[in-house]
Amino acid sequence: MHAADEDAKVSPATVETGSGLGSLASTVAGDNGSKPSSSPTPSHSFGAHMARKSSKSYFEKLRDPRWQRRRLEVMQAAGFECEFCGDKDKTFNVHHKYYERGADPWDYPDAALECLCEQCHESKELQRLDLLKELSDPECAVSTLCVLGYLRGMRARYSGHDLWIAVSDEEEVAGIAAAFHVFPSAVHRAMSDGNHVEVNYLKRLRLDVMGKV
Ligand SMILES: [Zn+2]
Repeated sequence: MHAADEDAKVSPATVETGSGLGSLASTVAGDNGSKPSSSPTPSHSFGAHMARKSSKSYFEKLRDPRWQRRRLEVMQAAGFECEFCGDKDKTFNVHHKYYERGADPWDYPDAALECLCEQCHESKELQRLDLLKELSDPECAVSTLCVLGYLRGMRARYSGHDLWIAVSDEEEVAGIAAAFHVFPSAVHRAMSDGNHVEVNYLKRLRLDVMGKV
């Protein structure tokens, strides 16, 4: 196995300090693994300067012994194989499935980190950028809140652990309705207090209508 020097291809700092497509473009520009300082200057990104500056401190953190230890733990737990494609012979990265504001790379729980080969890591980061790009598109008819509602609805529908989904906006209601394939009015009926949706109500509704959950 080969362990790459750098693991995270997208700095949370670029996500936090940049905004919109400029941030995305600069994030892509800095996405060259172990040699961040050799990034070509992205002429198409107005947020590039700030992103480069922020990325530097993040890449410095990736050389911190605490991250080196943490990433080795994740690779060992995965048996030194890519957790997506199962490859054992490629260079490995430890992928952050999400970023939290102010957290250091080593602060994340096991469930937030996965051992991936370089190719799968690249692919997952590009998917994340695609998602952010779509959400940033002013032409996009689906709001971020709607997508959040949809994702929480899907988790509740399939995980079996969520009994309630907190709702603060009608857009979230629309997303939850889409996840359960019901009308938004049904989601409203599943709310006893106006801001929490009873998951089992929606599951029962789907059982009644579709004959399955
Ligand atoms: Zn892989």
